[in-house]
Amino acid sequence: MLGLLQQAGHEVVPDVRQARGVLVNTCGFIADAAQEGVDAILRYADMKARGRIDVLIVAGCLAQRYRDDMMHEIPEIDALVGTGDFGAVAEAFSRVAQGDRPSYIGEPGWLAPEGGPRVVSTPRHYAYVKVSEGCSNRCSYCLIPSLRGPQKDRPSEAIVSEVERLADEGAREVILVSQDTTAYGRAIYGRPALPGLLRKVCRVPGIEWVRVLYTYPSLITDELMDVFASEPTLLPYLDIPMQHGSDRILRAMRRKITRQRMIDVCNRLRSRIPGLVIRTSLIVGFPGETNADFRHLLSFIDEVRPERAGVFVFSSEEGTEAAVLPDHIGPELAEERRGIAMERLAHLSRSFGQSRIGTIQRVLVDGPSDESELLCVARSYAEAPDVDGSVFVGDVTLRPGQFLDVRITDAVEYDVAGEPVEGPTREPLEEQ
Ligand code: SF4
Repeated sequence: MLGLLQQAGHEVVPDVRQARGVLVNTCGFIADAAQEGVDAILRYADMKARGRIDVLIVAGCLAQRYRDDMMHEIPEIDALVGTGDFGAVAEAFSRVAQGDRPSYIGEPGWLAPEGGPRVVSTPRHYAYVKVSEGCSNRCSYCLIPSLRGPQKDRPSEAIVSEVERLADEGAREVILVSQDTTAYGRAIYGRPALPGLLRKVCRVPGIEWVRVLYTYPSLITDELMDVFASEPTLLPYLDIPMQHGSDRILRAMRRKITRQRMIDVCNRLRSRIPGLVIRTSLIVGFPGETNADFRHLLSFIDEVRPERAGVFVFSSEEGTEAAVLPDHIGPELAEERRGIAMERLAHLSRSFGQSRIGTIQRVLVDGPSDESELLCVARSYAEAPDVDGSVFVGDVTLRPGQFLDVRITDAVEYDVAGEPVEGPTREPLEEQ
């Protein structure tokens, strides 16, 4: 959307105080995310009421989900752009300028135009690349398929040329994302095609790290493991949403895999990919989750030993199958279970950090630390941006986008500290 707006002659500014118009892109798949979106919209509605901005447009899942209510309840909103209509964003601004109050809410399912404009909103040394939009799974708790439509894949040539363009603009790490990245290829080629895509992306000159997020466990095939085991550019880091460790709950969630198969997949991955870091997400408090189910989840965590994880309390979303299941769990019990699971996972993360003390890790510098002016923040293969911890390095001469080797000297729950290793492993400093 930023690319399309810039192409239409708008200037994209980094600070709302410099802006005359605001576009709020929203997430609406669980109540907490929707609340965050609503809070942002109300903040900008207030700015508009006080004359600080002229235009307020709301895009994305929340617009798609609450179309009529939003226009009615928040009169400061000038236009809505739903999940099937992102391409209309520039037209929406033009029509608002002409005095209209348009609402672009059609069928969900939109793919960015190939070769279309893009404004990268991350620091330029790393970028996310969407390989598909939508999801064709039907997990019983999830609204995403109805908000984003069935999975649609981009052609692999288009993804590779986008990565080439990003590399030319300075990206050193690309992070491939979608709702279900392992299903990439089914919609466009009739078969999963992630392994072939990864091989191509890993060969793009200038890209030194390729990371993959959201790999559905049942589609982690031998072929995919081969690529991870043989491509040095592909980071040994897999984000595998597993959601639960009780087969009864997995069935109620309509996940297409059992506890034992997930354990087998993780064991096989670990035996084939040295140093593999597994990230997962889990849900507690799903309707009908008994103490026994929760104990199964804890023993599952002990078996899989994920180095990274997030635990979420089940969010009952209107329109999902899970919302009408019996035996909903009270919020206090669900929170208590979340706390217990998080404690166990924090312990695993700390042990992983401690096992790294004394090792030398290649890191990519993100920039100065907010916490101390004596530190820089960097990440190794084991830390994905935004979701994982960091590697803190005591050298403030480092620049964003610089690779260097550090010796790990300390570890706390989610972060580690390291000191630069002098010598040929350190890249010459480039002015950026
Ligand atoms: S795979 Fe993920 S996005 Fe798709 S339905 Fe399941 S939870 Fe939702």
